[in-house]
Amino acid sequence: MPCRPLDLRKAARAVTDLLDALGVDRAAESLAETPARVARAYAELLTPEPFEATTFPNDEGYDELVVVRAIPFSSLCEHHLLPFAGVAHVGYLPGDRLLGLSKLARVVTHFSRRLQVQERLTTQVADWLVDTLHPKGVGVVLEAEHACMSLRGVRASGSVTLTSALAGLVRFDERTRAEFFSLVGCRP
Ligand code: ZN
Repeated sequence: MPCRPLDLRKAARAVTDLLDALGVDRAAESLAETPARVARAYAELLTPEPFEATTFPNDEGYDELVVVRAIPFSSLCEHHLLPFAGVAHVGYLPGDRLLGLSKLARVVTHFSRRLQVQERLTTQVADWLVDTLHPKGVGVVLEAEHACMSLRGVRASGSVTLTSALAGLVRFDERTRAEFFSLVGCRP
């Protein structure tokens, strides 16, 4: 969540200033609404949707990995304010509590909607699962393409950055770890 109140008009003025400073000719009618649109777009990308973590007791003692693969996500790189986007694979080995499956996707979206680096986003999702569920293990893998790498600089279009955060048995137990990576379709 932005730590200061959102000021869309101020943001739109700043986009106008940015375009001027970059030497963009803003005379075209089609650009008239661009600053306001950019302000709204960034506001959306930086405002997490609230969500509630619905957990329920693991009454039947389910003790295998729960993995949701290929959750699409996009976020904003804090170094360039350019998007990075890809898929997240999120799993946990349940303890006493289970989490609604859709919440695994929600938590990724939640932490995406702010200025990020991929490494931190990966860790935040994993830490959230550890803190909320106290599971026996957690595994999070993110695969993403960064616009700041593919559109500019090295122009490494199509290159994918992989990050992972593992905890508990997914980290320390070789078999659980191997199973997690085979379920998400990556080699450990
Ligand atoms: Zn960047």
